[in-house]
Amino acid sequence: MDMKSNPALEPFRANVRAFFQNDYPKDILEKVASGASLTTAEVRKSEMALGAKGWLATAWPAEYGGPGWSLEEQYVFDEELERAGVPTVTPMGVIYVGPIVYTFASDAQKERWLPGTRDGSLGWAQGYSEPNSGSDLASLQFSAVRDGDEYVLNGTKIWTSAAQHADWIFLLARTSKEEKKQQGISFICCEMDRAGVTLNPIISIDGKHALNSVTFDEVRVPADYLIGEEGKGWTYSQYLLGFERTSYARIGGKRKQLAHITEIAKAEPTGGNTRLIDDEAFAAKLTDANIALDGLEMTVLRVLSAVKDGGSPGKEASIVKILATETAQQITTLYLDVAAAHGQRGFSDSVSPQWLDHAAFAAPGVSTYFGTRAQTIYGGTNEIQKNIIAKRVLGL
Ligand SMILES: Cc1cc2nc3c(=O)[nH]c(=O)nc-3n(C[C@H](O)[C@H](O)[C@H](O)COP(=O)(O)OP(=O)(O)OC[C@H]3O[C@@H](n4cnc5c(N)ncnc54)[C@H](O)[C@@H]3O)c2cc1C
Repeated sequence: MDMKSNPALEPFRANVRAFFQNDYPKDILEKVASGASLTTAEVRKSEMALGAKGWLATAWPAEYGGPGWSLEEQYVFDEELERAGVPTVTPMGVIYVGPIVYTFASDAQKERWLPGTRDGSLGWAQGYSEPNSGSDLASLQFSAVRDGDEYVLNGTKIWTSAAQHADWIFLLARTSKEEKKQQGISFICCEMDRAGVTLNPIISIDGKHALNSVTFDEVRVPADYLIGEEGKGWTYSQYLLGFERTSYARIGGKRKQLAHITEIAKAEPTGGNTRLIDDEAFAAKLTDANIALDGLEMTVLRVLSAVKDGGSPGKEASIVKILATETAQQITTLYLDVAAAHGQRGFSDSVSPQWLDHAAFAAPGVSTYFGTRAQTIYGGTNEIQKNIIAKRVLGL
């Protein structure tokens, strides 16, 4: 698979690039570039612009409304999306729950959830983690008790990304207590506005509201909100984890960040200082980051090349997850060098935009630096990925 220099992909690339230049909403691009968070209406607007073109659920099979692209085309599309500065597609809908619905749900459930997920009008959140169950997720205690034609949900989910933008949440819930803790877990969906569901915002270290805890107090949902068989939720949740982990690569976005950092470092400073790019220590760090990114790209291409038709990247995806997130942290640390004194200015959404008069890149850059620290935690921590590599890739 040669995605970098394959001339056959160039007309496809040009078509995608033209869409982002001409037809994608410009106000969203401007807001993202400013570093401010998108409102729910703006998230919907961005995803529905992609959905209207049939370019939101890019990895779905054509049978369920996907564009029928090859892995190479999907890779080029992601590169161009990031290059254009389009916000990352919320993965909970099209990447996480969509494939579980079209693989394991009933026809009526597919009809209920697939169209809105595919066209971007329906937002989803992922309710897996709990206050005492993160890495050891199978120890979760959130309960779903069958009562006639309903389930009664009780418990708390935490670190629930984008739940404030979501219409639905998919949950791992304990429906019975079995000897093996992975058993007795079921996969259940619930509307976010159902009686008894309470959303509690969590402001993270980057000053943004991206996380929440969500409590469920005697929440009643119809029994047909259960996907697949009761007690099989753990198996469904493991499905496509390989694709989730390779989706962290975001090569185009990282190249854009490095180009941005390089441009700032080349600018003439005030006060008679030398240009940052002429500082040997900084230049060495910038070179290291470029080499790390090239290494990441080669690794992603190698892992994807090994995927057979319709298959998943497998356990090697854990290598991509570690490399991608550590490279993201390495690159965004350079924002601290280029932001320098400006970086001390406030970076939260609530801070007045006066900092724009000083250095427009500084506050968003420092916020990005802090936000990227979370990447080695979510999606399964990097320590857990190392355990997977040791046991299942190296067979230790
Ligand atoms: C920004 C962000 C977004 C998130 N979004 C979501 C979301 O949308 N939905 C959702 O359900 N969850 C989400 N999460 C939660 C995330 O999946 C968990 O934080 C993660 O699984 C780690 O769990 P924990 O925080 O409980 O840490 P713990 O599991 O308590 O781990 C604490 C430390 O111990 C280490 N550790 C634990 N077990 C082992 C082991 N066996 N071997 C070696 N080291 C170990 C970990 O690596 C970590 O360093 C998000 C988290 C973050 C930070």
